[in-house]
Amino acid sequence: MLKVLKFGGSSMASAAQYAKVRAIVEADESRRVVVVSAAGKRSKDDHKITDLLYLCHAHMKYGVSCDSVFGMISQRYLEIRDELGLSTDLEGELERIRTAMESGISEAELASRGEYLSARLMADYLGFEFVDAVRWLRFRMDGTVDQDWSYAALKKLADGKKIVIPGFYGALADGSIRTFTRGGSDITGALAAAALDAEVYENWTDVSGILMADPRIVKDPEPIPCLTYAELRELSYLGAQVLHEDTIFPVAEKNIPLNIRNTNEPDHPGTIIMERFEEDDSSDDERRFITGIAGKRDYAVVSISKRGLSSQVGAIRKAFEIFENYGLAVEYTPNGIDTFSLVVSGAKLEKLLHSIVAQIQEKLAPDEIQVTKDLAIVAAVGRRMANRPGISGRIFSALGDEGINIRLISQGPREVNVILGVDGKDFARAVQVLYDSFVK
Ligand code: ASP
Repeated sequence: MLKVLKFGGSSMASAAQYAKVRAIVEADESRRVVVVSAAGKRSKDDHKITDLLYLCHAHMKYGVSCDSVFGMISQRYLEIRDELGLSTDLEGELERIRTAMESGISEAELASRGEYLSARLMADYLGFEFVDAVRWLRFRMDGTVDQDWSYAALKKLADGKKIVIPGFYGALADGSIRTFTRGGSDITGALAAAALDAEVYENWTDVSGILMADPRIVKDPEPIPCLTYAELRELSYLGAQVLHEDTIFPVAEKNIPLNIRNTNEPDHPGTIIMERFEEDDSSDDERRFITGIAGKRDYAVVSISKRGLSSQVGAIRKAFEIFENYGLAVEYTPNGIDTFSLVVSGAKLEKLLHSIVAQIQEKLAPDEIQVTKDLAIVAAVGRRMANRPGISGRIFSALGDEGINIRLISQGPREVNVILGVDGKDFARAVQVLYDSFVK
């Protein structure tokens, strides 16, 4: 039995957090592979080490001394080491980074040093072996991960051992370091779990799982106990941010459960994410129908009307092509008979509006083009909504009772979501009303 654990920046932020991590790892013999992030913030006004490393590189680029920023980074790790009473040769490590900086270290390599130093310290603290990510996580030239190569390499390196791996980076075939995008240690953990066919991938963070709604809108929303990968995609696409969005692919491929846990509340079971759950669907408990509520503001709708449009072959394709040529993703497309609408990011449309409208005039010669700004999308997501009549009715009447006007409705054929467009000003209220009527 083997569990892969990933600890995020807040779990690595101080010696006190390291102590919590060790207690968690030691509580279960099968917790044998630990992936770590760079030290994160200890408080609101603190800095993430990765941010400081990027800042150092920017200083170097413009020929400004980065001594004070590098000093902050060094001090942070030295402090953790000394408080934990470890004898890790950090001075040597920091000196090596300094030397590399003098000879023009790449931005990716410098940014990766936060994870590297965290993993060095954590390996010593746990008495586990340190396995550098460059030894197994192989990127191809196109930036994708060579999974076959990486999985085979890690299997060999981890065989029967207890190891600590730095997250966030790996190497190209020529040995040069490459990082994922920000927050990418989540992906390293998922790849390690998939490589080693782990029983579970535990992703330890500072919240007790994924919450049913945004805590900035709903006060103390409940955590979601069980979530499918499909539901997670829906929720995170619309703003529920706990994991890097590429995290799920390696574990979903192997159907390895992903468990989001809280380092500061280790007894809380958190959220389990899996492909599917064997569950009793006969319950009529309405609270269970919706898994979560997500949403985003700042959408714009471009509505195109033309008499006879529905029978005009290729009209929708032409409109899509215009948006595609400008690199603007069309997110939803609610249609009428002689009207269709394209819902896109408001901020992106703003810059391109005049050119896009001109193109639509030219290619489609519509009777009318209408642009509506400040639309918000709210989605109720839930695998148990499928094949269950009456849920949409409840959603509409809950919003109607509160005087919230629904401007757009969409539901995917898999019925795991009901997507609604409301005026930006009604966004927070719509989320709250849905939460209150289905969860409270
Ligand atoms: N330390 C990196 C970042 O801040 C990666 C991670 O924490 O996942 O983005």
